[in-house]
Amino acid sequence: MTLSVETLQDRYGHLAGIDLLRPVIEGGVAGEVALTSSFGAESAVLLHMAATIDPDVPVIFLDTGKLFPETLSYHEELVIRFGLTDVRTRRPALPDLRGRDPDGVLHRTGPDGCCSLRKTEPLGRALKGFDGWISGRKRFQATNRADVPVFENDAGRIKINPLATFTAKDVADYARDHDLPPHPLVADGYLSIGCAPCTTPVKAGEDVRTGRWRGRDKTECGIHFTANGRPLRQVVGTV
Ligand code: SF4
Repeated sequence: MTLSVETLQDRYGHLAGIDLLRPVIEGGVAGEVALTSSFGAESAVLLHMAATIDPDVPVIFLDTGKLFPETLSYHEELVIRFGLTDVRTRRPALPDLRGRDPDGVLHRTGPDGCCSLRKTEPLGRALKGFDGWISGRKRFQATNRADVPVFENDAGRIKINPLATFTAKDVADYARDHDLPPHPLVADGYLSIGCAPCTTPVKAGEDVRTGRWRGRDKTECGIHFTANGRPLRQVVGTV
């Protein structure tokens, strides 16, 4: 039986990282769950933890059609290295692309619509049948993530954020201790990596996610929701 968010928080909310993932993946305390990963700058940490517990855990990878080639090759590298057996690559539906973004430039004129077409809607389809999903969001990444909870209700599902309380040092320490390969673009200053047209390097002192949709009034892609169920797309003042 799937536990409520409140019960999960009471029983497991004090845990983090792999200690939290064990009851979720092994114990099934949040029901059937999938892990979502962008195979971005910090993704190796959560993927390694999950694979250590169970390499057969379902992993959803959204290939938007706009990713860096380096992300696609990093995805292949990590899947092989961690022995992940159930990585589900999901892409936008072709009829939707032809109808709503025939020239592939919607990201310039309507980034919210582009994220909906290429991320939110494919994720919604991919999560059908799952009770919950595991996300890699962390509080230190940006001002608008400073209160990310460990467990939360998310559009009828439970979302689990095992790294919510991890600091940048915790992430770096885990990666170093387990000899995890970095995303190839991190060396060039890309500290949060999404689609190529919407990602820029980050300067010293900036929030990790400042390079996403730089110069636009947008900081989230819409796959995360606020407590009142509205898509989390932007928080004024964080870019
Ligand atoms: S991040 Fe940019 S290119 Fe990717 S789906 Fe969103 S708007 Fe489109």
